[in-house]
Amino acid sequence: MMNRAQTIQSIKNNPKTTVLIIGAGINGIGTFRDLALQGIDCLIIDRSDFCSGASMASSHMLHGGIRYLENGEFRLVREALHERNNLLRNAPHLTHPLPTTIPIFKWFSGLLNSPLKFLGLLDRPAERGAVIIKLGLMMYDAYVRGDSPMPGHRIDSHDKALQKWPDFNPDIRFAATYYDGGMYSPERLAMEILLDGEGEGNHARALNYIRPVRSEENKILLRDEISGEDISISPEIIINAGGPWIDVINNEINGKSNFIGGTKGSHLIVKHPELREAIGGHEIFFEYLDGRIVLIFPYLQDHVMIGSTDLRIDNPDNAVCTEEETEYILGMVPQIFPSLKVTREQIVFQFSGVRPLPVATGSTGQISRDHSIEIVEKSSRASWPILNLVGGKWTSYRALSEQVTDQVLNRLNQVRQASTSRLPIGGGKNYPAGTDKQQPWIKNITKKSDIPLERIEQLFARYGTRTTEIADFLSKKSDPPLKHFPGYTRGEIAYLVEQEMVTHLDDFLIRRTKLAWLGRLSKDSLIEAAEIIGEELNWTDTKKGQEINRTCEILEKRHGVFL
Ligand SMILES: Cc1cc2nc3c(=O)[nH]c(=O)nc-3n(C[C@H](O)[C@H](O)[C@H](O)COP(=O)(O)OP(=O)(O)OC[C@H]3O[C@@H](n4cnc5c(N)ncnc54)[C@H](O)[C@@H]3O)c2cc1C
Repeated sequence: MMNRAQTIQSIKNNPKTTVLIIGAGINGIGTFRDLALQGIDCLIIDRSDFCSGASMASSHMLHGGIRYLENGEFRLVREALHERNNLLRNAPHLTHPLPTTIPIFKWFSGLLNSPLKFLGLLDRPAERGAVIIKLGLMMYDAYVRGDSPMPGHRIDSHDKALQKWPDFNPDIRFAATYYDGGMYSPERLAMEILLDGEGEGNHARALNYIRPVRSEENKILLRDEISGEDISISPEIIINAGGPWIDVINNEINGKSNFIGGTKGSHLIVKHPELREAIGGHEIFFEYLDGRIVLIFPYLQDHVMIGSTDLRIDNPDNAVCTEEETEYILGMVPQIFPSLKVTREQIVFQFSGVRPLPVATGSTGQISRDHSIEIVEKSSRASWPILNLVGGKWTSYRALSEQVTDQVLNRLNQVRQASTSRLPIGGGKNYPAGTDKQQPWIKNITKKSDIPLERIEQLFARYGTRTTEIADFLSKKSDPPLKHFPGYTRGEIAYLVEQEMVTHLDDFLIRRTKLAWLGRLSKDSLIEAAEIIGEELNWTDTKKGQEINRTCEILEKRHGVFL
């Protein structure tokens, strides 16, 4: 695999590509991998880091979207449920089954509202009772009967629910539990899908921190944000995977478009051992006072994630979690767990992103979450067709990518050579499922690499079967543990810089690892990480200082972290 400098040089040497994908969120990355597997020459670029837009800001659920049933989005739910199951099978190291519990306070509410919503006669969130939730869950189960690795739903009575969740609001009548999927690190999963695309023998190149500045005849001028240099590329087809920025990108290279009417969603990560214990490993999915569906997600160790909001926003660059949103989110927990308070001091990280939804009027909760491919054939400013990827869920990225790839293959008169449906992702390849298989696998790597068992276990939990190549890399050099990041070594950072295109300090702290998300950072830890990454990327002392300042600024402005 080429590093960043080599990829830029390769574009200078050969400024042509069949497909240029602009935007490396999950939809661009999924399409990149699928095209690469079909032998198509493609280049994916992002003006920022990989998976740093909406794809980093998701609620971390792999789900069919039970609430979309009441909007009549049956196709979307069925597709997303199958894709959820595919992801659980193909990336078992980075995804997990997620028991999800809905506390229910009423018997019959929603019976009238749901059909009204379905018919478009009700345009606001409305309370859902036991009967309507039961009906929804029956449909949810029916869609994946015979294809689900997880059990179906069940409904517990008031007494049983309070036995299981003693801190629940005693006013509940029932608790409905069903299974969806979860992921702790969308950024790592996206990175592994990207690396699969770049794999040996594929004609596929990826670059972060580069953006199109304008189009000229049959060329697009790209500006490297790191060196400031401009390079050009001539594509045959463009895929605009800019998510919430699709219209901004079109404006730069093709002319005005009006596809996106995004809504902002914010989440908080709180360190709260009592709440983490109270939810008992279940995601709690419930209706807030204003009728919006919100969640308390069991995050890593003693952390929980709470969210989200759903607010219209014009400029996706301005998406940050505001004071009002923080108040709104903190207020969610006592509705379900009246004895548990969450305070601002317990917040360790916050994040916000914009759902790239299609332009629509009405209540934000009812805008379709389905995806579409909006095609703009050649325009007066450009000689290539642009396929715009509008909307979609993280969960169903693969299905969207497959549809886009098929359209590209059709345009190129080529046939599909491989399907991604059952294709394992990254460290999910040859994954030993179950502890009885994992322990011998881990012991074997320990023996071969001479790296302690606990360390291999740690790597296996992060990288799945990619541990083989990482252990090989680490065993070749001395690999001291880090002072400020227990569980990480110098060699592991060097590996991530070399293999996963870490370009800025924040790439490592926020997206290649969960260090920032778990409140593990301090000024000293930033200095230590900058030293190691700087050594790999030949940073001067001035550059290290700039990187530390940049990271502090991003942490403060976007994530509410003040070091
Ligand atoms: C709050 C929230 C919660 C969500 N929860 C879930 C969930 O639980 N489950 C689920 O399945 N889905 C969820 N989603 C939806 C899902 O996350 C998104 O639909 C999906 O990530 C969109 O991916 P994308 O690749 O289209 O966009 P993005 O991830 O935004 O990618 C677009 C990329 O384009 C880049 N870009 C922008 N401008 C330029 C430019 N000029 N040049 C080059 N690159 C550029 C950006 O840097 C970005 O990386 C949620 C979304 C949000 C916002």
